[in-house]
Amino acid sequence: MTTLHQKRFLAQAGFFILFVLAPPLDIFRIDLNLKHLIFFGHDWTLGLDPLLAGEIGAGQAALNIVLYGFLPLVAVVGVFGFVSWKWGRLYCGWLCPHFSVVETINGLMERAIGKPSLWDRKRLPERRPDGSRRAPRAAWWGVTLPFAAGFAFLWALVLLTYLLPPTEIYGNLVSGALTRNQSIFLIAATTVFLVDFLFARHLFCRYGCAVGLFQSLVWMANRRAMVIGFNARRAHDCVGCESACDNACPMRLTPRAIKRRMFTCDNCGACVDACTTVQGAHGRASLLQYVSGDCALDKSERDFGYRPPVPSNCFSDGHVSGRRVIPISIARVASGK
Ligand code: SF4
Ligand code: SF4
Repeated sequence: MTTLHQKRFLAQAGFFILFVLAPPLDIFRIDLNLKHLIFFGHDWTLGLDPLLAGEIGAGQAALNIVLYGFLPLVAVVGVFGFVSWKWGRLYCGWLCPHFSVVETINGLMERAIGKPSLWDRKRLPERRPDGSRRAPRAAWWGVTLPFAAGFAFLWALVLLTYLLPPTEIYGNLVSGALTRNQSIFLIAATTVFLVDFLFARHLFCRYGCAVGLFQSLVWMANRRAMVIGFNARRAHDCVGCESACDNACPMRLTPRAIKRRMFTCDNCGACVDACTTVQGAHGRASLLQYVSGDCALDKSERDFGYRPPVPSNCFSDGHVSGRRVIPISIARVASGK
């Protein structure tokens, strides 16, 4: 497990816990009974009740809508848009609780059938980036299916607590006293999520998620935004590697491709991890690295017959020692070559 992988795992696990606990801790939820948001324990309304009670006029009501509705929305979209503009779909790759499930089920399916998705045409090589071998075993379906069903139920349950008081939902569940509508919601949502998790996980991320699409569109508009860059000067170092980066990509992309073909890349860095492992075994730095600014142009502007100049300092070209990247010149001195 590389440092990058550890950091991402911690970020995803922390956000998943927040996703589950936000409603019961009253950090964030929409209460359909009360017909307003709860935000950090406070009722978040548009401030229109005083208008209905005849206590304020139309002008004050309009101002309340701007202050409590429009401006917070613009602030959230603005911050989210700025992050997407500079760093792409970072939310998807590092936080999103749906993507955590995508990656977990991908890994389990790979153990069961040798490929991370039922729709992949070919099995992945049994040899893993670290050189170990792993053959698929159908017995892993015994873990994959309960995990998918468990995640589907958890998602349905958590979603319901975002809409109705969590104490009521969890209380009714534990005492077996869910109302008819609550039961129908849980069964229907669990079924939909189960189908998604088994058959359409990354397809939903690629084509069905409005949050993901928003981030991708904003990111594509910035040619200098952070991308996964490929150190083409060392492309010969790919010889002998069975495309570990392609195999590792949870979105089923080809990480060495140009940005247009990576529209749905979420900058998760799984491809960087894979290449770090492959090249690290030979004492070399990863060919895939996060780059931005002018270094990102090779990815975003490159086209048939056109290749922008790549600044010389874009990639850590060095040899690796443990997890540290050492500049080539220092490595040569250290090894006496
Ligand atoms: S290309 Fe790399 S960073 Fe992008 S989604 Fe695939 S593995 Fe993640
Ligand atoms: S970029 Fe790295 S992981 Fe991808 S094929 Fe080349 S050596 Fe393998």
